[in-house]
Amino acid sequence: MDEKILLVEDDPAIVRFLKLALKTGHYDVDSATTGIMGINHFLSDKPDIVLLDLGLPDIDGMEVLHQIREIGKTPIIILSARDREIEKVDALDKGADDYVTKPFTVGELMARIRVCLRKSDSYVETPDSFVFKSLTIDFVKRKVFIGESEIHLTPIEYKIITLLVKNQGKVLTHAYIQNEIWGYPSDDDYQSLRVFMASIRRKIESDTNNPQYIKTEVGVGYRFLEE
Ligand code: CA
Repeated sequence: MDEKILLVEDDPAIVRFLKLALKTGHYDVDSATTGIMGINHFLSDKPDIVLLDLGLPDIDGMEVLHQIREIGKTPIIILSARDREIEKVDALDKGADDYVTKPFTVGELMARIRVCLRKSDSYVETPDSFVFKSLTIDFVKRKVFIGESEIHLTPIEYKIITLLVKNQGKVLTHAYIQNEIWGYPSDDDYQSLRVFMASIRRKIESDTNNPQYIKTEVGVGYRFLEE
């Protein structure tokens, strides 16, 4: 059965374009042009994923996000025309799963949708290892390799890279990583996280200016890349 997408967006041009693109991608699409309609459709249609615009004519998209999160964990991708980083970060911290900034390509949006649906729909047992390009992580022995050579990471670096690969394809905010690794908010504006991240990259990336593994989402956080 096709997966059901709820699109909450007031711009008719974007609605038309996305409906066509998503239907071509074999998704079932339902759309709402206001925040209130979005919440009502969410309750009645039980979508598998929600694409949510922040700038809506009635209530703010952040309010829609908040109300949906009160009910459940359905993946939510923010469609944001606002490239102000603080709003993306705020949405991610308040439970959105990812965001795309307008204008975006269909390919980019489809990739984000696939990642979100994959994470949500199946409970996967923790695998023994992770392999991507030349990187291998052995979760049992807690060892990391590039090709055949072992890379020595500190315990914190190991925790960070493990967190990133377990969320491959998904953006993780600075605050999220900080909380998962240290368990308390940062008092240094994520400076120590940046230092750890730079160190991990020096160890695993062959060219830190053109990363193959960890992408910086400027002002937001980090994303472990996927194919
Ligand atoms: Ca809008």
